[in-house]
Amino acid sequence: MCDTDIFGLPPVLSELLKRQYGDEVTEKIESGCLQKRTVSLRINPLKGGNTSDELLQAGINLAGLEWYGDAYLLPSCSEADVEKLPAYSEGRVYLQSLSSMIPPLVLDPRPDTDILDMAAAPGGKTTEIAALTSNKCRITACERDPIRAQRLKYNLEKQGVSCAYVMVTDSRTLSDAFSFDKILLDAPCSGSGTLNLGMPNTHFTRQLIDKCIRAQKALILKALSLLKVGGELVYSTCSILEEENEEIVRYALDGSDAEIVPVSGFDACGVPLLQTSLAGTLCICPDINYEGFFVAKIKKTGRRVKTPQPSAKQKPRRRKRQ
Ligand code: SAM
Repeated sequence: MCDTDIFGLPPVLSELLKRQYGDEVTEKIESGCLQKRTVSLRINPLKGGNTSDELLQAGINLAGLEWYGDAYLLPSCSEADVEKLPAYSEGRVYLQSLSSMIPPLVLDPRPDTDILDMAAAPGGKTTEIAALTSNKCRITACERDPIRAQRLKYNLEKQGVSCAYVMVTDSRTLSDAFSFDKILLDAPCSGSGTLNLGMPNTHFTRQLIDKCIRAQKALILKALSLLKVGGELVYSTCSILEEENEEIVRYALDGSDAEIVPVSGFDACGVPLLQTSLAGTLCICPDINYEGFFVAKIKKTGRRVKTPQPSAKQKPRRRKRQ
């Protein structure tokens, strides 16, 4: 099914995944992408109230998650069912995939710190960062697409976020006069972990992957340059391709004054994981509850460190530093 069926994985992706993970895991990924994903949401503590009771009273069946008290799966519900509820229109819940809730948790935002969200729209993670700090941090939320930035502003307001400032700009052009304690780079990517299979896909091409890689490289170097010494960067994508994930992180670390901080705590609580080729990083396998996602945490130590060795099958490409 993987190679030829236009309703399964696009051939270029199938080929890359087989090379990266082998045939068996590629089949598992494909069957995960073919499933109709369970609806999930995040309760928004910024709006107060007992929202989970409100949802139960509205007849919504909720299943909590071990790794985040505000996250719920809604096993017998569609997004449209949720969108009809006052809790949705009044911003007490945010429809969000489970995997997408993980990068802000890994970022571990703290009150009274400066946080940059480099690719922010439509705002799932910006609103989560604000919620995790009870609106007590200072978020600069960048989005280069003006229409998506409008959606971001709308969501921030609807969710009661008062600690975020939206910049409609290309994050690669941010002035180096800025510096941040923490940065989230939820990078533009091919979306290989979130493909909606079951219909023909002509959008997923080698050119798309290459274009994303170019943007990811420029954005991650910018992120490191804007990070304070001792600060932390979370790099995430909704891709499960090593080229957009581990290789981008290796590229950024090569010759830098930064190192990996291991992402832990998700393996033992039911999050389906794929093997990564860079120790300490997390890659989520698409299944009925989770989208495919990659998360890495990097700390700027201020001292140059030895580059982590790649696995035998690929070599990092050196780049010119400005
Ligand atoms: N973090 C968002 C969330 O959780 O809702 C999703 C981000 S989406 C993966 C990537 C976003 O980055 C898109 O809205 C895209 O327009 C924006 N983007 C892409 N390149 C950018 C750049 N160079 N500077 C700022 N935003 C960029």
